[in-house]
Amino acid sequence: MAFEGLSEKLGSVFKKLKGRGKLTEADVREAMKEVKMALLEADVSYKVVKDFVANVTERSVGEDVLKSLTPGQQVIKIVNDELVKLMGEANSKINFPSKPPCVIMMCGLQGSGKTTHAAKLAKMFKRQGNRPLLIAADVYRPAAIDQLKIVAEKADVPVFEMGQIDPRKIVKQGLKQAKDYGNDLVIIDTAGRLHIDEELMDELKDIKKIAEPSEIMLVVDAMIGQDAVKVASSFDEALGIDSVILTKLDSDTRGGAALSVLAVTGKPIKFVGMGEKLDEFEPFHPERMASRILGMGDMLTLIERATQTVDEEEAEKLAKKLQSEGFDLNDLLDQMKQIQKMGSVKSIIQMLPGANKITDEDLESGEAALRKTEAMINSMTKAERARPQIIDPKRKRRIAAGSGTQVSDVNQLLKQYDAMKKMMKEMGIGGGMLHGKSARR
Ligand code: GDP
Repeated sequence: MAFEGLSEKLGSVFKKLKGRGKLTEADVREAMKEVKMALLEADVSYKVVKDFVANVTERSVGEDVLKSLTPGQQVIKIVNDELVKLMGEANSKINFPSKPPCVIMMCGLQGSGKTTHAAKLAKMFKRQGNRPLLIAADVYRPAAIDQLKIVAEKADVPVFEMGQIDPRKIVKQGLKQAKDYGNDLVIIDTAGRLHIDEELMDELKDIKKIAEPSEIMLVVDAMIGQDAVKVASSFDEALGIDSVILTKLDSDTRGGAALSVLAVTGKPIKFVGMGEKLDEFEPFHPERMASRILGMGDMLTLIERATQTVDEEEAEKLAKKLQSEGFDLNDLLDQMKQIQKMGSVKSIIQMLPGANKITDEDLESGEAALRKTEAMINSMTKAERARPQIIDPKRKRRIAAGSGTQVSDVNQLLKQYDAMKKMMKEMGIGGGMLHGKSARR
């Protein structure tokens, strides 16, 4: 995940700082040299790094810090504050106009994640009660329209398309339809190119004139490193952008763009893409990102994602069932599905404090274990899921063969299930005990 290297390096600088009771100005300056290297290696722009380190050093060598009881902690806090400042203090929201519809024009280079993120945005706003319409104005890549239709269907949002005709016409007609049908939010997926060229910019400028967008959002792939900032600057100069969506932060990118975009272009990052799934998308909160970079985790985003994806009705149904009938393997499968709705195991774990110490292999084996468990439960009959104690050696062999696993895996699953059941009983749930009934099994 992004920032892994940076997190690790800053972690070791801070460990040294904290390990000393007293700090001298020379200690701070030495540490800042390492911070500077770490930031440069993470692809943060040179000028940004220079200013950042200068600010942190100036604040850190003051008497109030060096003479305090915990100088190391104070320096870390200053780094944290300055990181937040660099990324923009608070999450900036979309500029909704007083008169609907709000028109968002998405632009960006080909492959940056424009189409995917048009659908992610639409899904998020739909969940918040808006009525979005997506306009397919990326007409050069024949597959682009189909791709938009596929992701839009997943997001349950309509798409306006007219095939591969002049995108200016499509946008005009699409906006008319949005007015006729009362869509309060229109998201235009425009064409991308491999490189910025004049023809593309002219087309985008025309669309801007026709659509009068409330917000021009530039979609930038974090994996292109320093170039992300260059792309943002070029689009801003040629077209004028309002904000940035930084995508693929889940991947093995060094993440420097997240720290440089605002400082270099003056345009805030409003959202970040953390995966291919539509829910792997978050408003960009500078203070939470800083906390992730410093290895302090991001519990707030995790909680937000859980409340958005966990179906409360389902949860209540489960609680009732646990109390009356007890916990069986169907419930375990349901729970696993709920967790998966929150995103990949990897993206969830990465928000936990200390996650930067977990290796990619650990994450992948966690993901694989989850898939294996799901396959085993799917290979069981209804009766076996409801009453796992009937699973004898013969059934175990069948389940293992059906799910491509080993009997020892099935044994392990059943053991885990027993342990969970016992734990729930001890907590007073799932054993049917609360109602004075004896547990059914
Ligand atoms: P477009 O050409 O700009 O419209 O880009 P697409 O939306 O087609 O995305 C290009 C590729 O990147 C697709 O394979 C997406 O699934 C993938 N992608 C998009 N956003 C993300 C992200 O946040 N994380 C990861 N890992 N992949 C992404």
